[in-house]
Amino acid sequence: MNQQPLDSVQEFWSPARSTALHRLDQFLNAVPEYAKLRNYDMGSDSAVSRLSPWIRHRLITEKEVVAAVCAKFSYNEVEKFIEEVCWRTYWKGWLEQHPAVWSVFKRQRLTQRPEMSAEAYSIYRSAIEGRTGIDAFDAWNAELVQTGYLHNHARMWYASIWIFTLKLPWALGADWFHVNLLDGDPASNTLSWRWVAGLHTQGKHYLARADNIEKYSRGMFNPVGQLNEEACPLTEQESIPTLALRHCEDDDSARLPSLSCSPAGLLILEDDLSLELSGLAEVPFNAIACFQCREIHREYRFSDAVLAFKEGAVRDAARRASAHWNLAVHNESVDNWVAAVCRWAVREHLKAVRIIRPSVGPWRDRMPALKSALGRHGILLLEHRRSWDSLHWPYANKGFYSFKRGLRDRFTSAGIFAAQA
Ligand SMILES: Cc1cc2nc3c(=O)[nH]c(=O)nc-3n(C[C@H](O)[C@H](O)[C@H](O)COP(=O)(O)OP(=O)(O)OC[C@H]3O[C@@H](n4cnc5c(N)ncnc54)[C@H](O)[C@@H]3O)c2cc1C
Repeated sequence: MNQQPLDSVQEFWSPARSTALHRLDQFLNAVPEYAKLRNYDMGSDSAVSRLSPWIRHRLITEKEVVAAVCAKFSYNEVEKFIEEVCWRTYWKGWLEQHPAVWSVFKRQRLTQRPEMSAEAYSIYRSAIEGRTGIDAFDAWNAELVQTGYLHNHARMWYASIWIFTLKLPWALGADWFHVNLLDGDPASNTLSWRWVAGLHTQGKHYLARADNIEKYSRGMFNPVGQLNEEACPLTEQESIPTLALRHCEDDDSARLPSLSCSPAGLLILEDDLSLELSGLAEVPFNAIACFQCREIHREYRFSDAVLAFKEGAVRDAARRASAHWNLAVHNESVDNWVAAVCRWAVREHLKAVRIIRPSVGPWRDRMPALKSALGRHGILLLEHRRSWDSLHWPYANKGFYSFKRGLRDRFTSAGIFAAQA
């Protein structure tokens, strides 16, 4: 639906914090209309922010987006938009407390392709090559591959058709999104696919219907007679245990600067790229580094567009960190990430390396190895959590509706906006 030339696509998704701030500013006036119009997929004319790639990598944070909106409008005027921003927070917090879902996804994305019948494999190929004959689906696939972005409603329709009409495994669809979306996120993506399948809220699935697609694509598509509109939700054998949230020092804890771990280094990770705006901003550092991890990029086979976004975003973060701490930032792409971080920390004579702890996903998977490798050199790994996450994640252990019930009070208590009558 959104067939733009490649260079204008790349320009639009410029991986810089300044671009995100500009986009947010441009979008602000449209927020009061968001609730009414957000479900319509009208390509680049859609009434949504398209901020997700920047929010995903925290080039701009949920807190900043919510604060900017609340500074301009009353809470009631913009509640729907705030709730959508907080869906991301909810998914992140939920996966923190159910990390087994990520392990299941990682296993299934590797095992399910080789286990497919020849017929299923051929349907899978036609889906990812956009040759299913379902015009809408094939167009969304082209848009996904070409732009790295899809409107939320198109994602829901696409995932539903993948699972219930094409009868393909949800984990392979989630994998296809994860490698092609510029905002591809282990929590929002994996859990949204499971939500569509009926595995998140058990027994409640999302079925794409031709009349709904016709209405919300404003007549662009009408796949009448082509969709399975009667399918039952998926079920699964896996049991998904709930884990308690691990204690983690808040990033804006007043104790941070005084913690005596000097010399200390700051390690920038792809999941959180505005460290100069975190509580760590006041901590003096002796060295700063970011190492892009080719192992992760190879393991997940990210598209060229996703890799370019990530690399650009890390460079942007390194530039800002360098200006903020007045230090040169070591920025390198490496194969053995843990070994490279250790070599850097030893060379800089560090006693501690501080990070914003990555949430469940490929980077978190590497933390135990990093901690023990640094430990062998007597270097501490100090992990911090954004206060936004500490504020909301404890409420993300049930459904979204119970999570959102306390949102407004939590914002008021954290001073994110003044209580309004
Ligand atoms: C199958 C499927 C897969 C998805 N995969 C991802 C993913 O990998 N990464 C991702 O960020 N989002 C994902 N989403 C959620 C949502 O589709 C996107 O966040 C949204 O479309 C991004 O567009 P936007 O920035 O214009 O959103 P807007 O509507 O302008 O919303 C503003 C911000 O709120 C957050 N947000 C809005 N809706 C949701 C939602 N339903 N879930 C989580 N966060 C939301 C995003 O950060 C978004 O940028 C997925 C949804 C589905 C149904």
